[in-house]
Amino acid sequence: MKYKHILWDWNGTLFDDVVLCADIMNNILRRRNMGKISLEDYKTVFDFPVRNYYEAVGFSNLDDKLFHDLSVEFIEEYEARKLDFGLNKDALEILQKINSAGIEQSVLSAYSQHTLEEIVEHFGISKYFVRLAGLDNIYAASKIENGKLLIKKLGLNSGEALMIGDTLHDKEVADEIGADSVLLSTGHQSKERLIKAAVPVIDNLLELEKFIF
Ligand SMILES: [Mg+2]
Repeated sequence: MKYKHILWDWNGTLFDDVVLCADIMNNILRRRNMGKISLEDYKTVFDFPVRNYYEAVGFSNLDDKLFHDLSVEFIEEYEARKLDFGLNKDALEILQKINSAGIEQSVLSAYSQHTLEEIVEHFGISKYFVRLAGLDNIYAASKIENGKLLIKKLGLNSGEALMIGDTLHDKEVADEIGADSVLLSTGHQSKERLIKAAVPVIDNLLELEKFIF
């Protein structure tokens, strides 16, 4: 086995919430007569820190107060609707396969800690993870600091973990914490953007088998 540990991103990687997130942003824009974005536009502009993404969709004078209010507005609708959405279609199968091979797994997410724990439990997959690492706020700025802490807690050395995510930030985090990375093209950023990261880009989670086994 090439890796001791698999680090999973949650949103857009294990959890299929891309359509939900684009839809919520369209509701936010519509309430302000700011037009709308297509799913393709969404995947072209979504970014970390999320604050930059809000600016990219048209909030050019984004101060702390407006960013906070938009974050609250977003997360309220997200929480109300999230259970209408499900796991990525191959998530369960690949989690089981990795688990059966004796490789440990954790989640490293920009989602807030308690909601992350809650939703992972909701889908009955907590048993697959050694640790669930979310943020202590709703602003989704960066996973780098949490990633460093997680790697330390897990006692992993450079090259022993594989990070699986759906954004360029996941690759950035992996580089910072000494993990390899693979990016999934069906998440929050377009394949055209992900390819620029010069790491493997896959179109479904089962393709991971060739990188892990
Ligand atoms: Mg993600």
